[in-house]
Amino acid sequence: MEKIPQRTILFLIADTGAGHRSAANAIRNAITLISQKEQEVWHARQQIVSGTSTGAREQPATAVSSASPPAYRIEIVDVFEEYSRFPLREAVKLYGPAIRYNPKMYGRVFRLSNKYRSLTAVQTVASPLIHNGLLRLITSVQPDVIVSIHPLLNQFTLKALQDLHLHIPFITVVTDLVSLHYSWFAPGADAYIVPTEEARELYLARKLDPDRVHVLGMPIDPKFTRPTASKQELQRKIGLEPGLPVVLLVGGGDGAGGLQVAVRAISRARLPVQLLIITGRNKRLYAYLQRTRKNLRVPAKVFGFVQNMPEMMRASDVIITKAGPGTINEALACDLPIILSGYVPGQEEGNVDFVLKNDVGILAHDSIELVDGLRRLIKPGSVTMRRQVANAKRLSRPHASFDIASCILSFLLPAGQPGPWQTSLARNRRPSMSMRLRSSEVRLRSLRRRLPRMTRVSFLKSPVVSRLSRMRASGFPPRFIGLADKNQDNTT
Ligand code: UDP
Repeated sequence: MEKIPQRTILFLIADTGAGHRSAANAIRNAITLISQKEQEVWHARQQIVSGTSTGAREQPATAVSSASPPAYRIEIVDVFEEYSRFPLREAVKLYGPAIRYNPKMYGRVFRLSNKYRSLTAVQTVASPLIHNGLLRLITSVQPDVIVSIHPLLNQFTLKALQDLHLHIPFITVVTDLVSLHYSWFAPGADAYIVPTEEARELYLARKLDPDRVHVLGMPIDPKFTRPTASKQELQRKIGLEPGLPVVLLVGGGDGAGGLQVAVRAISRARLPVQLLIITGRNKRLYAYLQRTRKNLRVPAKVFGFVQNMPEMMRASDVIITKAGPGTINEALACDLPIILSGYVPGQEEGNVDFVLKNDVGILAHDSIELVDGLRRLIKPGSVTMRRQVANAKRLSRPHASFDIASCILSFLLPAGQPGPWQTSLARNRRPSMSMRLRSSEVRLRSLRRRLPRMTRVSFLKSPVVSRLSRMRASGFPPRFIGLADKNQDNTT
């Protein structure tokens, strides 16, 4: 049987909020669907060529390509969590608590680091805490293309690729709409995929290559493009009351952005609505709302982190959310008018402008504005509701993940051509990156010296030691990272 060629795509993310992982999952799911289609088309053509199809006689066999399309292996890695060291890993984990409990302080950090000089200083300090991890990651996964979906990972990854002396296409997918942090556009990437024209203008203002920027929209899951059950059926499935407007309340993956205040304000105003509250990973808020739900003056259902956001949105009439770019774009795909109950200072300010400028929602500065805005939308025959829904339909790009996926796939070499890991330079790079094995060998050697004789004999026969000896016999370790021979053949 013919061997299907494989291409590996490595997505670099960080679980700061849930947006980066959601975007990576969305593109992965789009690639999977594209791949299924490629395989179906190829199999259909093969049948025609071999004459097993009824339409065989009408098709010219010579026009048909016989090379099988590749299978895509996709790895999504939280680099800070899995490949960085103390205290960088711990610092990144503070994102969730920071935007929940001290968003102003987070905003100050965002602004301070949003300049070339301060960003360079931060990156110089942080680089030793992540550089070796990235080298280890890249050399163990051996990707054919790398996609970064986190601003802070771009510069570190480009540096790691430079040290490897391999050309692996590197693509940045920007998941903020307007107010982009300086680190999104690290010079040297092969492509920058941005969601809006405003983002493209910021890119051009940095005097980077205009041919490398592509405005393709914000990646949202392909599930948002599929038809679902009717609104009534979804509401019944979720256990909602028929005929009462449904207000969805979300605060991103971390359940941030004034969720609790919004619930209390709607309850106090006794609006004729029912609430669908999603607290994400905010376990404390989930427990609190479950405990106090009975005291609310409006019917409410409370969920933790949900996996069926398209259904939740399609069952709703209005969304109240913080200005997370993922949630905003998903809401647009579900024709929902948006009430913004908060935003992360600095980072999400541009998303607020995006919602207001396109007239798909409002920003509620306080509880009164929130209740007034909601009242306007749920009024029977609401003009605001009609206008904002129409604008959402116009603005939404539910198929963006497919366009982004196609752009990424266009950077892969055609099946049959040797990828970056088949070059002779790469063959030398692979073993030289085995830093962990190197240090474990040093540890084992010093341990061997200290062991009593009898124990030493059984130690020398252990599988780990035998494996290391075999590796050493085959030339391990040949050289250190970064000391590549510049004259070495890099082509085949
Ligand atoms: N999300 C989800 N389940 C939840 C809460 C959020 O799947 O319970 C998803 C949501 O659909 C969106 C992402 O998490 O895709 C949140 O991204 P956003 O950019 O809005 O905010 P962030 O969490 O990154 O601050």
